[in-house]
Amino acid sequence: MSAENAYIREVHLMGCKMDITVVASDQSEADRYIDMAVGEISRIEKLISSWDSNSQTSLINDNAGIEPVKVDEELFNLIHRAVKISGLTRGAFDISYASMDKIWKYDGSMTKLPDSKLIEQSISKVGYGGIMLNYASHTVFLKLKGMKIGFGAIGKGYAADKAKALLKSKGVKSGIINASGDLYAWGKQPDGSDWKVGITNPLNPKKIFSWLPVDNQAVVTSGDYEKYVMFDGVRYSHIIDPRTGYPSTGVLSTTVFAQSAELADALATSLFVMGVEVGLDFINQIDGLECIIVDKNNKLHTSTNIRLNPIENEN
Ligand code: ADP
Ligand code: MG
Repeated sequence: MSAENAYIREVHLMGCKMDITVVASDQSEADRYIDMAVGEISRIEKLISSWDSNSQTSLINDNAGIEPVKVDEELFNLIHRAVKISGLTRGAFDISYASMDKIWKYDGSMTKLPDSKLIEQSISKVGYGGIMLNYASHTVFLKLKGMKIGFGAIGKGYAADKAKALLKSKGVKSGIINASGDLYAWGKQPDGSDWKVGITNPLNPKKIFSWLPVDNQAVVTSGDYEKYVMFDGVRYSHIIDPRTGYPSTGVLSTTVFAQSAELADALATSLFVMGVEVGLDFINQIDGLECIIVDKNNKLHTSTNIRLNPIENEN
């Protein structure tokens, strides 16, 4: 009988680095499984990408204000769930945020705060109420010309869930799909212990300040340490409040623990918009959800059932 080991591969998909780990009896078995996960994530990327002008998502956007577009059941259902999360978060999360990405750019090209008139104009095309879903014909219609949807805040979580589900269905007993900090871990490590995730310090992402066990669970971190802009001493994150058109400013990083990576992903983004107080209150009211929020002063806030064991404090 051969012993089982954990095999890990780094891949680049959906515009980010992903680490796929599977427990298998040898390298070739592991490679077979990891290839399946890569295939699944690539498939999803084709469906939800806004960059790919041939994706069904682009077709929906191109036909905004013109006509409904028939899409695969999978994409239809994802949009349906995204709209439900918008309701749950009172609009903090909104896939129709996407028309604002013309105004707020995080590629270094912004030199000053955008004009307030432009910001006002941009939010006129935002609002999940304008995403019309026809359940009988599986069509999606964006009510207004110029309206756009984008899955930047939920897609990686969805992909992690789907890749995990596929591997589990193929008999992989244990593994981790880690899409740049959006992860789902199932099963145990080969030595029988729980998988562990390191919670990083947002001001110093190379430092882990606490390790937490994950047991068949999703853990998703949204951080602004790579994508933010500074004007007049204010740090504007890459997560925008769809109701005001302005990026959130009070939070450096959010981590959400949930049963699904898709939900955790969407909520990690929502917590940025909600801020510390409203965010904690929101998470504490829902069973099965926990969170860690780091505010702009680098202070940690945790939901009621999180126990952190700081391993070092080197700020
Ligand atoms: P990351 O893991 O890259 O930090 P997040 O899950 O935090 O990503 O999502 C951030 C991305 O979501 C942004 O880059 C943007 O594409 C999109 N986005 C920004 N604000 C919102 C919002 N309020 N609701 C939904 N999506 C948003
Ligand atoms: Mg997210």
